[in-house]
Amino acid sequence: MPWIATCYQCQQQTGISRPFFETKDDFLAWTLLERKILEKAVAHYAPHSRSATDARPCSGVGMAVPKANILLASSTTPDDDPPTWGRQIPRHGG
Ligand SMILES: [Zn+2]
Repeated sequence: MPWIATCYQCQQQTGISRPFFETKDDFLAWTLLERKILEKAVAHYAPHSRSATDARPCSGVGMAVPKANILLASSTTPDDDPPTWGRQIPRHGG
């Protein structure tokens, strides 16, 4: 999972779905702002455990990433996996 953000439930760095913007205007604003401000992007938390010692699924799994957290989200492979735009169906576990 190349995109990561801090989980608001367990405070771990965890995988998220690829951020997307619901409108082309938001997407274009993102490209003009040096591809740093993800404030209006939407993403969801990928499956992860609550902690290194608690294997139960975190309650944040599948939830939307809060704005404060997605602002600090980043991709480990930004050139290969940029955000997109257009309404998408959230996918869990992919
Ligand atoms: Zn979590």
